[in-house]
Parts: sequence; structure tokens; C-alpha cells
Amino acid sequence: MKIFRNKDSLVKYINELKKEGASLGFVPTMGSLHRGHLSLVERALTENDNVICSIFINPAQFNNKSDFEQYPSNLKRDLNLLESMNCSAVFTPSKSEMYPQGITVEKSELGSEVTKMEGRFRPGHFQGVATIVKRLTEIVMPHSAYYGEKDYQQLIMVKNLMKTLNLPTEIIGCPTMREENGLAMSSRNERLTQRQRQEAGFIYRSLIKARQMAETLSPQEIEKSIRADFDQNDFLKLEYFNILHNDTLESISDFSKGTARAFVAAYMGEVRLIDNMKLN
Ligand code: AMP
Repeated sequence: MKIFRNKDSLVKYINELKKEGASLGFVPTMGSLHRGHLSLVERALTENDNVICSIFINPAQFNNKSDFEQYPSNLKRDLNLLESMNCSAVFTPSKSEMYPQGITVEKSELGSEVTKMEGRFRPGHFQGVATIVKRLTEIVMPHSAYYGEKDYQQLIMVKNLMKTLNLPTEIIGCPTMREENGLAMSSRNERLTQRQRQEAGFIYRSLIKARQMAETLSPQEIEKSIRADFDQNDFLKLEYFNILHNDTLESISDFSKGTARAFVAAYMGEVRLIDNMKLN
């Protein structure tokens, strides 16, 4: 497995691969890899001749300084995992390599889907994500790139961004990998105690409950009921629980109007957790 710190040497390597006509898959990550990340790499490996994974903790997408400072990092372990999977190459750039020009995606280049949920509670977050996605995609120019449904709003944003910027990469969404109790895998889970991890299974159970309720109740009734459940939970502090249209992320008044998805963000202590689930 090749390891690149520098963009020019990576581009040279990629040009050689492309000359041979090989297809190229790309998996961008912030490292501290878990089974969720690895499922993306596995899928990319089955669908492409070569797979490049990037590991870069993107400072521009953190709106909270302490969240950035406490974000876990485990490069040596990550590289061993990727090597054992036969990933072709890893790109681990420095900040100066990625940000010679600061933020380069304007708010106006992003669609209305970024204004709610993560966009609302994490100001600047999506502009930071879009900037790094744009930069990485322009460097790697993969045929396809793999993103997790765990960050569903981000997945929709990235799909739209490719169209807006006229980038040819196909964006593939991959299902959320979960712990045994249903907790969505996340690098931030490393910051939870054993007890907190256990209690955080409540988020998944709420989504399952919402999905069952969708057979008889309206989106608004379900939102009200699930928010009330969170009010009774001593461990989790709910930030939002929304039911929105699966593709547009607009409000949905009735399940007969299309496919809906429930989205949740909640704090377990200082750790912010997000999850989502398709309801119908
Ligand atoms: P991150 O390192 O958190 O930026 O995540 C890198 C990629 O892995 C993103 O496309 C995430 O959506 C995806 N991802 C993170 N957690 C999971 C998970 N539990 N299941 C599937 N994909 C995930």
C-alpha cells in the first residue's frame, strides 16, 4: 500500500493508474477507522480496480474548538487496517497541503438542504465539509466516491455539490454500520464510557420506534412523541428530532407524500451523536 503526504506525488501515482485504464474508487475519512469506514472501503474495493482512502481531520468543518481538539487520531492503526484490506493507497495530507487558499466553497454554491439540522446547529460546518470534498475530489478525480448514510445530510450535500461544480465523480451512499445495541459506529464513540455507549442505544431504539409509529401516526405526531421520550431520558440531551423527505430534506406532512427519514442529534455528556433512519 502506498502512503502519500504530498498531493503532487499522489497525482503522479493516480495518473499512472489511469493510463492503464484502471477504475478508481475513493473513500474520504477523518481517521480513527471503525467498521463503518471499512465497509465503505470494502464496497469500493469490490467495485473498482484501485481504491484510495484519505485520512485528514478537517479543521474547517469543526464549529466547536474542543470537539476538534479531542477528535481521536490513530494513524498507525488506521494504516495497518487499510493495508490488511488491500487498499491501494492512502493520502494523509497536512493542513497546509489542503488549505493553501482557505475556504473555497461559497455558501451560495450549497443547496437549501444545508440550512437545517447540522447546518443550523453547526454554523459553517457544511461550508468546511464542501471545501474539503471539493479539494480532495479535484485532486483524486475518482470514478466513484463512497460516503456513509450515517451522515445522510452530508451525503445529499455532496451529491448536489458534484452537480453544482460539474465534477464527474459518482457518489455512492453506503448503509450505516452499528454496534450490537444499535448505536451507529462513530469515531466519537471512542470518547464515551462503557455505560454511555450502552445508554446511547436509546437513539437507535427511538428511530426503530419512529419507524413502527409511521404505520399509524403522522410525521408531526411521531416527532412530538419521540421528543417527549428524550425529555424523560437522563443521559441524552436532544438537539433535534426531525422527520423530513428522504431526498429533498424538506418537511413532509404525510407519509403518503413520499419516502421520509427521521434524523436525530443528541448529546451524551460532551459527545454529540447523530443518526437517521428511513421510515417508509
Ligand atoms: P468520518 O471519518 O467521520 O468523516 O467519516 C468518513 C466516512 O465514513 C463518511 O462518509 C461517513 O458517513 C462514513 N461513516 C462514518 N460512520 C459510519 C458508519 N457507522 N457506517 C457507515 N459509514 C460511516
